[in-house]
Amino acid sequence: MAQVAVFIAILLILAVCVLDWTVMPPEFAWPAIFFRVSTMLLSLLLVFALTMVRPADPRVPYAFMAAGAINGVCTIIVGGMAARSGIDFVLWGTIFATFYVYLVFGLRFRLAAFAGWPVFITFITVGMLVDKPFVKLAYGSLFLVFANIVGMYASYLLERDARELFQKEKLLEKLARTDALTGIGNRRSFDEHLADVWRQARREEHKVAVLLVDIDYFKLYNDCYGHGPGDRCIQAVADALDRTANRPFDMVARYGGEEFAIVLYNPSDQFVRDYANNLVIRIEALGIEHRASDISEHVTVSVGAATLRPDELRQAEGLMRSADDALYEAKAQGRNGAAVFYLDDAMKATRTLRAVAS
Ligand code: GH3
Ligand code: MG
Ligand code: MG
Repeated sequence: MAQVAVFIAILLILAVCVLDWTVMPPEFAWPAIFFRVSTMLLSLLLVFALTMVRPADPRVPYAFMAAGAINGVCTIIVGGMAARSGIDFVLWGTIFATFYVYLVFGLRFRLAAFAGWPVFITFITVGMLVDKPFVKLAYGSLFLVFANIVGMYASYLLERDARELFQKEKLLEKLARTDALTGIGNRRSFDEHLADVWRQARREEHKVAVLLVDIDYFKLYNDCYGHGPGDRCIQAVADALDRTANRPFDMVARYGGEEFAIVLYNPSDQFVRDYANNLVIRIEALGIEHRASDISEHVTVSVGAATLRPDELRQAEGLMRSADDALYEAKAQGRNGAAVFYLDDAMKATRTLRAVAS
């Protein structure tokens, strides 16, 4: 949008130069055209080039501010040159330039003001230098002051709206990645995170582990206590699981109804086993009553984990499938326990069940 604004301004300067050349006396037209091209047009072309080459450079807004100020100030100087040649000093070009800088350049409030007010000061200075009649100078100043005030207000509103929009977008983005019931990550954000971690682990030749955690006999829990308490149970389990992932690349997400997924970056085999066991113990220790469960008085979970070192032959989906197989194994072994598959180890890869806590 800013590029379009500069482009239109360039077209405008060119059009004014053509008009100067067509209708003005040559002794005024040529110096004016030379001045416009060497200052106004040049500054706009430089800003345009900057936005093409380095659009994300943090100095771009300052270049816009400078170009805005240069164009406003130079409009007035050309007006002064016209006055010296006996042509009336036209104000509305300056007012137009002032509004243009405030509203079309898309500058932040403060930068726009820095570009706008020097134009006003130049107007008074040049007006006095060319002996502009006091009445005209007074009216002109008044209009310019109000053009600046209105421009500042409008650019403040624009900036505020842009900021609100930005915050709303951020919020929407966050909501799209968060599970509404538990406030932890959802399946989508987990899949994205796993893909990132997978790439990173391949580069660094590190291991990745995925753990699937499923609440035992949860259908019975719902049947026994109702859906509201069921939801609160899911929240409590999510909260407890979320507290266990403290390392920067690790993540806990709600993967489905009463199922959670965890990714661990670069864990040792021992760490995965201890972590999985610890989850099982922690959830039972929450002490959430579950009368309908065969295996405990409290709500328990089963954990299926799989770990490997990613290479070009393997995909993250395969690791997820293995974790699911491990979960099935943990359920088959009686629930309230963990099964870990070490997929890198030919001996252990035969799906040995290890370390079942109870
Ligand atoms: P298992 O030990 O084999 O895992 O048995 P289970 O009963 O937990 O397994 P199943 O997958 O058959 O049942 C899961 C239940 O979870 C079914 C569904 O009603 C319940 N559930 C899924 N999402 C929610 C939810 O958001 N809130 C509540 N209250 N219940 C849910
Ligand atoms: Mg279940
Ligand atoms: Mg389930």
